[in-house]
Amino acid sequence: MKKAKTPQKNGEAKISFLNLDRHVWPLERDVFFRPARLKYVRKLIKKKGCVFCEKVIDKKESLCVFKSKYSQIVVNKFPYNSGHLLILPRRHCGDLLDLSQAEYADLMETLKEAVTAVIDIYNPQGYNIGLNNGTAAGAGIPDHLHFHLVPRWSGDLNFFPLIAETKLVVENSKDTFSTFVKYFSKKYGKKIKNMEVR
Ligand SMILES: [Zn+2]
Repeated sequence: MKKAKTPQKNGEAKISFLNLDRHVWPLERDVFFRPARLKYVRKLIKKKGCVFCEKVIDKKESLCVFKSKYSQIVVNKFPYNSGHLLILPRRHCGDLLDLSQAEYADLMETLKEAVTAVIDIYNPQGYNIGLNNGTAAGAGIPDHLHFHLVPRWSGDLNFFPLIAETKLVVENSKDTFSTFVKYFSKKYGKKIKNMEVR
């Protein structure tokens, strides 16, 4: 290959094509990483309306893997750990006490369904179930209540969350979604009613 020459015109040095990238995209620059600010950015770009209700309508974006008559199981887009699921009522409702008896019973059954799936697929050593009821309790989406189900293994909390408020998760949400879709399809096949797996 011919070596690119650096042309000289009127005594002025021009940048050769081979070095162009170094000038356009410098190899070094100062970067101030502030991952903790991400939560504020997320708040700024937060869409109006309910994420859970909208995603049910827009199936392309939905990470829903299971639906019963009154509840659904959704893969968490921002997981704390691999296999992190959200279990929530299909109706837009922000308080556990506002659920009807039938909705509550169905939600608890669905929670059990999710725990069974997580154990079957991930074989965790333990799991956390949590419901943040209300903004003061830490709910990110307080208007549509949702249980978090997080599979746990000994030592899975490393130093990363402590220094960067970022959790290292080995599996991405799309793969988790496919794993659960396969699991529920295999378990229920065509027999399951109201299950709308994409
Ligand atoms: Zn909603």
